[in-house]
Amino acid sequence: MSENLRFPHLSLADTNAPYMEELCRAASDVIRSGQYVGGHHVASLTHAVCDMCHTPFAVGTGNGLDALRLILMAYIEVGILHKGDEVIVPANTYVASFLAITQAGLKPKPVDPDICTMNLSGEGVSKALTPHTKAIMPVHLYGRVAWDEKLLETVVRHKLIVVEDVAQALGAKSPVEGMYGTDMAGSLGNCAGLSFYPTKNLGAVGDAGMALTHDSDIADAIKALANYGSDRRYHNIYAGINSRLDPIQAAMLMVKLSHLDEITLKRIALAEEYDNLISNPIVIKPLVDYEHPRSCVWHQYVLRVPGCRDQFREYMHTHGVGTDVHYPTPPHLQPCYKGMFSESLPITELLAQEVVSLPISEALSHSDIAEISRIINNFRK
Ligand SMILES: *Cc1c(COP(=O)(O)O)cnc(C)c1O
Repeated sequence: MSENLRFPHLSLADTNAPYMEELCRAASDVIRSGQYVGGHHVASLTHAVCDMCHTPFAVGTGNGLDALRLILMAYIEVGILHKGDEVIVPANTYVASFLAITQAGLKPKPVDPDICTMNLSGEGVSKALTPHTKAIMPVHLYGRVAWDEKLLETVVRHKLIVVEDVAQALGAKSPVEGMYGTDMAGSLGNCAGLSFYPTKNLGAVGDAGMALTHDSDIADAIKALANYGSDRRYHNIYAGINSRLDPIQAAMLMVKLSHLDEITLKRIALAEEYDNLISNPIVIKPLVDYEHPRSCVWHQYVLRVPGCRDQFREYMHTHGVGTDVHYPTPPHLQPCYKGMFSESLPITELLAQEVVSLPISEALSHSDIAEISRIINNFRK
């Protein structure tokens, strides 16, 4: 739907344009170095991300899905989780969160999000616990930190393993401290999976991901599992996989990481601009926490348009604005999971009908946001 729109939902060529020379120089560095797997670019990136997120250990992976599933596989290999254990996950997440759980041999327990934050809440989690619940995967959906006092208290009291899905929220800061007394998304629970898929706030020019953890044994297990299950050369303690963070992508990400703070601040400013300017009563705006602006890094700016979402999208498209839907079909209703879930998830199913994502790329200007808001305010059913 992005053919020659005045405001495409996202143009990666535009977001990467300011760094083009730096990116090309970094790529040719790697090519000239002769080291095409591992090496110092990957090491620099894992160190830099650990610094930023306040986690002691990181392992580069091929993508975000692999990061999440390798973490869960590691917990099984060290004997902390067992095949068939239940993992609480928000029902309105991207399918990859569910895939990581099922591919590790665990059982997703989908839970409706809070309708205001569109995220898991401690309240929702505590009601969904069963004797089989052993872990929880909070997903910081759309860039908003999914963490609160009640969630912290619940995971500590029930000794749950917490694996954060930080694919959409690198750089976000929680108003409530995590299990280790830190506040950055990625450091709140035991482990976290990051994605550097090109559309993410810190996006590579291809696939890349990273697993973060506070536990050195888990870090060792993830490292081995990602390298054919090999703990030392030609010795395989696990039946692992091959999933690596490519050094060219690491070099691209080092360039962009040095600008992530500006990117985040720009996105927060654009979201606040939308919040000030959109006044059409047909649409419901996302929550903006002005007291804790860093609690959301606005991977997406998601409106709800009850009753006429698709008509609204068509209208926006006609007026040159590209929109997207995250996500039209929740994972528990996907054909691959047919017959697996019997939970009633009314909020998730309602949101799937109502949500629409506006353009919020850091390449947009304040006057672009004003123009898009004006178009929204002129929408009538
Ligand atoms: C993008 C994404 C993933 C998967 O990351 P990939 O790098 O694409 O494998 C997982 N969870 C969420 C919430 C995502 O948005």
